[in-house]
Amino acid sequence: MGQIYDAFHRRSIDDRDGFWSEQAQLIDWHRPWDQVLDYSRPPFARWFVGGETNLCHNAVDRHLAARGEQAALVYISTETGIESTLTYRELHAEVNRCAAMMLSLGVARGERVLLYMPMIPEAVVAMLACARIGAIHSVVFGGFASHSLATRIDDAAPKLIISADAGMRAGKVVRYKPLLDEAIALANAKSARVLLVNRGLDPEFITVPGRDIDWQTLRQQHLDAHVPVAWLESNTPSYILYTSGTTGKPKGVQRDVGGYAVALAASMKHIFCGHAGETMFTTSDIGWVVGHSYIVYAPLIAGMTTVLYEGTPIRPDPGIWWDIVERHRVTVMFSAPTAIRVLRKSDESFITGHDRSSLRHLFLAGEPLDQPTHRWIAGVLGKPVIDHYWQTETGWPMLTSAPGVEQTPIKFGSPSFPAYGYDLRLLRETDATDAGPDEKAVVVVVPPLPPGCLSTVWGDDARFVSTYFSTFRDRLVYASFDWGMRDTDGYYTILGRTDDVINVAGHRLGTREIEEAVQGHAAVAEVAVVGVADALKGQMPLAFAVVKDPARIATAEGRASLEKEVMATVDAQLGAIGRPSRVHFVSMLPKTRSGKLLRRSIQALAEGRDPGDLTTLEDPTALDQIRGAVDEK
Ligand code: ATP
Ligand code: MG
Repeated sequence: MGQIYDAFHRRSIDDRDGFWSEQAQLIDWHRPWDQVLDYSRPPFARWFVGGETNLCHNAVDRHLAARGEQAALVYISTETGIESTLTYRELHAEVNRCAAMMLSLGVARGERVLLYMPMIPEAVVAMLACARIGAIHSVVFGGFASHSLATRIDDAAPKLIISADAGMRAGKVVRYKPLLDEAIALANAKSARVLLVNRGLDPEFITVPGRDIDWQTLRQQHLDAHVPVAWLESNTPSYILYTSGTTGKPKGVQRDVGGYAVALAASMKHIFCGHAGETMFTTSDIGWVVGHSYIVYAPLIAGMTTVLYEGTPIRPDPGIWWDIVERHRVTVMFSAPTAIRVLRKSDESFITGHDRSSLRHLFLAGEPLDQPTHRWIAGVLGKPVIDHYWQTETGWPMLTSAPGVEQTPIKFGSPSFPAYGYDLRLLRETDATDAGPDEKAVVVVVPPLPPGCLSTVWGDDARFVSTYFSTFRDRLVYASFDWGMRDTDGYYTILGRTDDVINVAGHRLGTREIEEAVQGHAAVAEVAVVGVADALKGQMPLAFAVVKDPARIATAEGRASLEKEVMATVDAQLGAIGRPSRVHFVSMLPKTRSGKLLRRSIQALAEGRDPGDLTTLEDPTALDQIRGAVDEK
């Protein structure tokens, strides 16, 4: 850890009040806070108590004077071919209209508005409109089907649901409305009104009279609307967002107003180095936390232009994102390792053929970034690539390098150090004592959690405590449910989920370690390793790999020889103890819609069990391949 950053981090823990009251100057307050932190009821932390502010004011209104004519939102859809721009002034007008529309439908402060929307500007406008009037948004990823949607509708009990006729993915229309109708029928939300953006994508689009309202028609009635900002006490809920559901039943993360705004503003300065007037391109979806924080709120709070992209990384060709970087002079880019691994399968010239001189950093998060991929993308881009680690629960990075504070060297495969504000520790699972260097341990945060993190689980304080703060009997800590390790230079590595450990004859190996070793073979593009019950050894690792060149596995001999080579690579890098019992080759791995490997389902299939809840699965045929591979002896 660099000396400057070390001092910065230490102060954020030793002098929380001083540190965060300084960061809080980065946003506008309508009324100053009485107390920086109220931690009288651990583990519940309340930030900027008594202060009044508003997310929409900070993201939109306060920029009008200096940058009203600057682009706030650049919308690019490679699915429909539409590109459009809203300046801050235009965004302000649209948000006011939408806020008036919501008020006309009876949405009051503190009531929930559920968004089930594709990546269109109306989705961002609706989020900001909720923030403006103090309604609580709950954005549900547009790729979810009716059952997942219904459970989220029931949990949030929305007054209003906003949706659209359809989304589009890889050139195909995905009809939203029938799924929504089915979800409403399944849920106890019979009284909610439904506001619909008709994109004209679905010829069979039908509305329910008396319940469904057309966005455009209602908007026409509020063209000149001015809706004053609702000043909210800092700890008022701003939104609910469910975790990705990789490990089980999703948890409804509840976020506040003031702490979140301060945390995001500070992260733009110290971590992402994004300044007013520059452009940020985050390739996530508004249905995920990355979209909430780094497509919508943070770049706008910082007075930047944000890019909203509907499409895949490889259509019309794998150069599309770099074309956007070039044309829009993107300064800060944020994506996920899974996307980079997809791009790695294509020619580098798709990237190098574009001017990337505007780009300062590429940030990657969401899942482990393996060393080879990290090294590859950094080399091809010629720019620093920053791996950073966080969760839906925290809202902003927990482990990262903070180049806005100090430019510390990057180690490939490591998300660097604990972010300021987090008293992050590695604890031994057995007795909750602090682990030493190079010792695998559980990643925890000593509370209070910094501003921006979840305030509680929506409607369930008891679940907040029992889920996140009950790992150790004698030590109150926030559990990340991830394994980590710190090297002698203080750099961290995330080794996988705590429920992803493989126990081979008493040796505990993280799936991540074995995956890194498999990926050490140059022919491998992607891999998933799971532990499978074994009568002799307890568990054995089993690998499913995607190769860069399918020709290598076209024949049985080719597969067999590559399997041997991969095993030899693991032997050399990790030792025979980590060698997978088999390496199966597939063309695709089962992933959640946010790009995370569904290891629990792979493992279940490999052990001949039911794969469980698959609603978050991106492409069901990927599981069929796993099934096929397991069955073939
Ligand atoms: P659920 O909690 O419902 O099972 P989830 O944990 O997948 O879902 P998210 O909050 O979207 O939901 O994901 C956070 C998790 O993603 C982290 O806990 C970690 O396991 C993984 N992750 C995120 N960033 C990184 C990273 N840079 N390196 C390694 N793992 C990461
Ligand atoms: Mg999680």
